[in-house]
Amino acid sequence: MKAMVLGAPSAVSLENVERPNTDAGDSVIRVTHSGVCGTDLKIFTGGIPARYPLIMGHEMIGEVVEAAGSDGPPAGSRVIVDPVLFCGNCFHCEIGQTQLCPNGGLIGRDSDGGFAEYVAVTPGNVYAMPDEIGDREAPLIQVLTTVMHAQQMASISPGDSVVILGLGVGGLLHVQLAKARGAKSIIGITRSAWKREVADNIGADLTLAPDAQTKDRVLEATNGLGADVVIESAGKLSVLAQAMDLVRLGGRVLGYGIHTDSEGALPFYDMYFKEIQFINARAATQKDFGACLEMVGSGAIDLAPLISDVVPLDQLDQALNMVGTDAPQRMKIILEHL
Ligand SMILES: [Zn+2]
Ligand SMILES: [Zn+2]
Repeated sequence: MKAMVLGAPSAVSLENVERPNTDAGDSVIRVTHSGVCGTDLKIFTGGIPARYPLIMGHEMIGEVVEAAGSDGPPAGSRVIVDPVLFCGNCFHCEIGQTQLCPNGGLIGRDSDGGFAEYVAVTPGNVYAMPDEIGDREAPLIQVLTTVMHAQQMASISPGDSVVILGLGVGGLLHVQLAKARGAKSIIGITRSAWKREVADNIGADLTLAPDAQTKDRVLEATNGLGADVVIESAGKLSVLAQAMDLVRLGGRVLGYGIHTDSEGALPFYDMYFKEIQFINARAATQKDFGACLEMVGSGAIDLAPLISDVVPLDQLDQALNMVGTDAPQRMKIILEHL
């Protein structure tokens, strides 16, 4: 089969490799669409360690061509892949924290993923997909599961005021999901005027460019208190510091962006004085997939506005480059495998 193979950091090429099979108890999926994300870029550049050669890709949909056993959808089903692998037997799996299983991993990072014609997946990680969900939008459901998991951890509830710092794909999904969960005042903050407009159209109550007035505007919109919840969706330490500034006394800061800094400044006294609850979210569980498939299938969440580019699979190299350049009008890039 054809696959985009990462042979070494920053070296990806189209190669002919052996097609996966059901020998190890996996179902074989013909991948039709996949999403490219910042995690792929970090694996590509070597920032996230991986083994080589590796086929990346953890956001993917397709069709079951060979089903292993009767655990997952049968051959012919249109499906989405849950890339989070877990053992099912350890302490974390037994208490329902399958996303933290130390024996688990991520398809596309720890095992071959979806940037190929076919991928092998544990049948229990393959879910049938409602017809109403479009092919190009569907890979974004994997991202939505991590947003769902994060908002559940932060207990975002009806009536909450929520500030979202950073309006990339994750930030915009946070806007839509907070709205769907009944948050009453949703404030999106980003430098990009284009992203602010997208946020306005999908449910933000107020959008702001970060400037000297930002804090006053947030206080104005939250009865002078600051926000109940501030979501950091930029992965920048300075933005995390801003989140702690904008949250109310006793509020929650949700860390969603991936931080790799090992040192730097945060308002530690605020963390203490304001009794800030700091919540970090990393992945998602199988429950989140079920909930997200339902929300997208019913139209409660519209993923289409979050796609900016659709390119063929063999242009993965260019797509990764696009992810790496901070273009103001870039959102999710979808690879079409047809
Ligand atoms: Zn991703
Ligand atoms: Zn486990």
